[in-house]
Amino acid sequence: MNKDKAVIRLSIDGKPIKARAGEKLLWAALDNGIYIPNLCALRARPEPDASCRLCWVEIDAEKTPVPACAIAVKEGMVVNICGEKSLTLSRAGFELLMASHALDCARCPANGRCELQKIAKVLKCSLKPKQLRLLLPDLPLDDSNPLFNLDPNKCVLCGRCVWECRKQGEKAVLGFAHRGFARRLTTFGDKPIGNRCFDCTACVKACPTGALALKDKPD
Ligand code: SF4
Ligand code: SF4
Repeated sequence: MNKDKAVIRLSIDGKPIKARAGEKLLWAALDNGIYIPNLCALRARPEPDASCRLCWVEIDAEKTPVPACAIAVKEGMVVNICGEKSLTLSRAGFELLMASHALDCARCPANGRCELQKIAKVLKCSLKPKQLRLLLPDLPLDDSNPLFNLDPNKCVLCGRCVWECRKQGEKAVLGFAHRGFARRLTTFGDKPIGNRCFDCTACVKACPTGALALKDKPD
């Protein structure tokens, strides 16, 4: 919590909490042990990306749900994260995400620690889309790196790995290519990840899914 800013009081689902004035609601909730689904939010990013469309909440002063990553806390704010309107929007965002996700939890390295599994549980919805037709990218696994694999079919384009990779400065290799359905994680020059990156696994630690996963160690 930024110590230079005034402490304000608000409530989330009836629970009174304290936060620093101007702080984004998502971080205030998470810091107080209240989970709001999110994938693209990064605390260090000055302005939120607000692209994953999962963190919808209802606020007493607003007619329509707002994304918790983009709204600043205010004194006396009353927040409802379980309202029907916000849940409907968050579930729709999740369904859209999962309509292009190669769901195969039983054989996925992230099974049991995956944030998609956690979000499905919190939103009380299925990992498998119910309304939308599946449209899977069918991209090749990149196993060229000695330490980890990249399975772009399990990538949700959250950008966490790209943010971590950019901390490497000139050695950074990850970025996004293309737009819309064709958008995907790649390396600059679209080279196999093993050609560009060797000894760092910061991206793997940041990944909320099984898209980036350490290789099994030999027995
Ligand atoms: S990334 Fe998560 S939801 Fe997707 S297959 Fe792996 S464990 Fe299942
Ligand atoms: S590889 Fe993982 S961290 Fe990177 S954009 Fe995809 S889901 Fe996010």
